[in-house]
Amino acid sequence: MFGQPVAGNPTQYMMEKAFADAGLEWRYLTLEVAAEDLADAVRGMRAMGFRGGNLTVPHKVAVLPLLDGLSPAAELMGAVNTVHRQDGKLLGENTDGKGFVESLRGVTDPSGKKIVVLGAGGAARAIAVELALAGAAEITIVNRSADRGQALAALLVEKLQAQAAFVPWEKEYAPPEEADVIVNATSIGLNSPQTRVPIAAAALRPHHVVADVVFNPAQTRLLREAQERGCTTLDGLGMLVNQAVTAFRIWTGRDPNAALMRDAVEEFLGV
Ligand code: NDP
Repeated sequence: MFGQPVAGNPTQYMMEKAFADAGLEWRYLTLEVAAEDLADAVRGMRAMGFRGGNLTVPHKVAVLPLLDGLSPAAELMGAVNTVHRQDGKLLGENTDGKGFVESLRGVTDPSGKKIVVLGAGGAARAIAVELALAGAAEITIVNRSADRGQALAALLVEKLQAQAAFVPWEKEYAPPEEADVIVNATSIGLNSPQTRVPIAAAALRPHHVVADVVFNPAQTRLLREAQERGCTTLDGLGMLVNQAVTAFRIWTGRDPNAALMRDAVEEFLGV
């Protein structure tokens, strides 16, 4: 995107390494755009023939009316993190949830699983929609704000015919024994290794897969506590890498070197 160039980020770092590895003389720029300048920035993308781009908060929702079309998943989520140009049109896709599901498949297939999603913001919406599309048997949305949580559960039931319910998050949430996967899709723990996600850690069982979307730090307190209880854990770096792998494929039509991208992200974050 356009605006003031900033000092780079993990996605830029891994994407440029992946382009070079694939022999593509492409650049990935990190540019800050003020909310009121988004429409001009998108016009600039068209004018300068950008192949595509990623968007982050708050542009993920605001960009929708500026695009020529949306993928079915992006339309359901009401948010776009990846734009690509095809036949002169700018199309919106959302690779956040796809990245999470691809990462999850490394440890378990979500099809037929009972899954608890903590949170109902942008990341949670993307993850919950893709989990429903991947055939999850049951999705429980646990969120502090009832309106957002209820809206997400209703979206899953009404638009995707999924088995989904909302549970208000009051004090400590105790994950049910019968759950297969528990995902922290909130921002709790971001840049804060000691911050606790308020769940009853004593309820975690070795058969639970516990995933966190937070990637900085990669080893969150939630993941540390889950490991102590014998759970299989999944860090947010896998999602970060896989959403970029998916975007790379959309833009270039080729498979990137995902292992090199993971190494690049770890190098950038110093983990
Ligand atoms: P949003 O602001 O859209 O949503 C934040 C969510 O966290 C809401 O559900 C909010 O609840 C909840 N939350 C925040 N603080 C608290 C708290 N103290 N107690 C209870 N609930 C809380 O953010 P995003 O969904 O865009 O991002 C969430 C996280 O996902 C971020 O850390 C982001 O970095 C990460 N992320 C990781 C990606 C990856 O590739 N690994 C990709 C995209 C995002 P409420 O509705 O009640 O406010």
